Amino acid sequence: MINRTEFISDVEWERFLDFSRGLETPCVVISLQTIENNYVTLRELFPYSQIYYAVKANPERAVVSTLAELGANFDLASREELDMILALNIDPARVSYGNTIKKLKDIAYFYEKGVRLFATDSEEDLKNIASAAPGSKVYVRIIVEDSSSADWPLSRKFGCHSDMAYDLLVAAWDLGLTPSGISFHVGSQQRDIGQWDDAIAKTKYLASTLEEEKGIHLDMVNMGGGFPAPYMQPANKLSEYAAEIHRYLTNAFGKDFPSIILEPGRSLTGNSGILISEVVLISRKSNAALNRWVYLDAGKFNGLIETLNEAIKYPIVTSRDSPFCKEAEAILAGPTCDSTDILYEDYKYKLPVDLAIGDRVYFLSTGAYTASYASVGFNGFAPLKTYIMP
Ligand SMILES: *Cc1c(COP(=O)(O)O)cnc(C)c1O
Repeated sequence: MINRTEFISDVEWERFLDFSRGLETPCVVISLQTIENNYVTLRELFPYSQIYYAVKANPERAVVSTLAELGANFDLASREELDMILALNIDPARVSYGNTIKKLKDIAYFYEKGVRLFATDSEEDLKNIASAAPGSKVYVRIIVEDSSSADWPLSRKFGCHSDMAYDLLVAAWDLGLTPSGISFHVGSQQRDIGQWDDAIAKTKYLASTLEEEKGIHLDMVNMGGGFPAPYMQPANKLSEYAAEIHRYLTNAFGKDFPSIILEPGRSLTGNSGILISEVVLISRKSNAALNRWVYLDAGKFNGLIETLNEAIKYPIVTSRDSPFCKEAEAILAGPTCDSTDILYEDYKYKLPVDLAIGDRVYFLSTGAYTASYASVGFNGFAPLKTYIMP
């Protein structure tokens, strides 16, 4: 049993229980109030930055419009995401097309709708941007080598080496685009703050070299996401990240900061969600087996994909938790006929021994990368439903 109050206050927990009592499981309940608080805190901690919410973390319309009202900008990856932004009457000037993997016709679509800020990491993509989005601002994403300290790495697939970034920024200029800056992503749920130090130092070196050798002045650094949500594996407080990162930026750039972009996803929405599941079955694999298997109606295919390799360890609370209840280790699994659909086997959660079929099991901090990651209905199990709590 976890100490629930480390993750959510009694007041918020009671508000959630009231709101969710009659809901059918599985589902996730998102607190807009929590997202608003997170946004305001991030603003205060990084007052010199512009925030581009990474919509993929939680694309619920109510989430996006709440953040829009608070002044956020948006980091998008597809036409469908852009259509939603436009349907909410959000100015396309507040959008960055941050996906480095895109079709020519999608670039044209973004341009036609008024988007003028594009990420790239390859020559072919850069040429496409030049032809379909002439004159736009581009920033080049660099690879940051070591993301092993991130619980959900985003390296290798994206970004290019600094030498290539240099060439691309020069080529952007030659192609009539505006080379505006450099981006990186140190990996999602990055628990080693030092990763930003290395990335910022690399960025600074690249910008200075371009300035000296080619007279190209970059005025933007996009530091991506990677800021933590609260899970079982301990991470520093966001204020700690802010203080350290400010120091790294000062070391690299002195008082003369370029304009800084942040692209938080997980840190804005992660702790806003509680996924509610129900115990379908409890069994043991032999008469002498030490561990129970606890099968839930939520699993890898309907919301809990980030339990792949047990990467993200959500705080778990059950409806049987009480201060003196006896507990024992359990293996947790989802409901489908697929053996990948085991949630936690190596990491042993302790659950009350009197946990029974029909009890509720709550996964805290499930506001990011859950509902939008669910399958359309593998094995007939519907995608995870989202409910919005004001
Ligand atoms: C997914 C993504 C983010 C968000 O990362 P978090 O770790 O969730 O904050 C930011 N930028 C880009 C380009 C991304 O792909």
